[in-house]
Amino acid sequence: MSVVHETLERRIVFGAGAIGEMPAELARLGLRRPLVIAGRSQAPYAERLLAEVGAGDSVIGVRVHVPADHAEAARTRASELGADCLVAIGGGSAVGLAKAVALTGSLPIAAVPTTYAGSELTTVWGITDAGRKMTGKEPGIAPRLVVYDPELTYDLPAAVTAASGMNAVAHCVEALWAAGATPLTDIAAREGLRLLADGVRGSLRDPRDPDARATALTGAWLAGEAFAAGGALHHKLCHVLGGMFDLPHAELHAALLPYTAAFLLPAAPQAGRRIAAALGADDPAAGIVALARDVGTPRSLAALGLTEDDAVRAAAVAAPDVPDIPLRPTPAELEDLLRRAVRGAPV
Ligand code: NAD
Repeated sequence: MSVVHETLERRIVFGAGAIGEMPAELARLGLRRPLVIAGRSQAPYAERLLAEVGAGDSVIGVRVHVPADHAEAARTRASELGADCLVAIGGGSAVGLAKAVALTGSLPIAAVPTTYAGSELTTVWGITDAGRKMTGKEPGIAPRLVVYDPELTYDLPAAVTAASGMNAVAHCVEALWAAGATPLTDIAAREGLRLLADGVRGSLRDPRDPDARATALTGAWLAGEAFAAGGALHHKLCHVLGGMFDLPHAELHAALLPYTAAFLLPAAPQAGRRIAAALGADDPAAGIVALARDVGTPRSLAALGLTEDDAVRAAAVAAPDVPDIPLRPTPAELEDLLRRAVRGAPV
């Protein structure tokens, strides 16, 4: 079968202080009246941007998993304002809210990511209504402009730095065996992994180290590019578990990745060699485990509140629909994988 690599139209600006270029970048795209969507800790950046642009308004405060009523309120605000674009400043939750607004209003999005989640580079949206998370892909909602400014990550708490970093690591790892992998996503995944391992460890040692933060954010950028390959078993299980039990997104990725990777790696030897090389480890699964241990993310699903009974239920929900690349687990294998992840069993 042919390899297909599709490139979305977007402009990426990366640099310390780059958020200061946002007004000129918006003007370059002919955009003059933004609705700025920002997490609470990013409110000062939103205010400064609005003052510099001289028009627009803001929605401050975002919620994880984009509740439908929150999306509806932001849509109303955008249409009352006559906004011509959305500017998301924050983590995956801020970008997610902007995407939910763009989904129905087709406003272009400019994103300033302040975590390593990678949503700014994907076409994936998610909205939660009455306890059910709906997701989909829509090319039109992928941010047209992404401004990466490492300075905005200096105050990212250690726990978010670590978990969000492991979320990006998961994008890189799965991109190496996902159905949509291409030579370009492979390169992005390998280099992204190397930079994330280095940058996240360094950022935890010194959160305000400019080099470490820039390295981690560059790794997250590459992880987002790599994720154009799509996900496989790991992302499928995170989606099912996150939806069923309302688990914290990044921590879930961090806790589960060692188990999904260890299960799939025997069927993906080339990916294994690449992961080991990127992590400077003899063995790829051991390299992932060592990174998770170093950054201090939760080591079991039990630490997120899950029981083995929950694992059995989730395995039953996921089993009919698990990807077969590079390997499809049997229902019994799936249940065993999740039970072990709940217990935090040795990988
Ligand atoms: P988040 O956006 O919820 O942020 C986590 C916490 O960190 C929040 O309390 C936030 O206020 C805080 N924070 C963020 N940036 C900060 C900063 N620079 N300084 C201080 N505090 C800061 O978490 P996340 O992991 O970035 O995103 C998770 C959400 O994104 C989930 O809903 C997930 O489904 C979604 N997501 C979507 C995609 C996609 O492709 N659509 C990809 C990854 C994640």
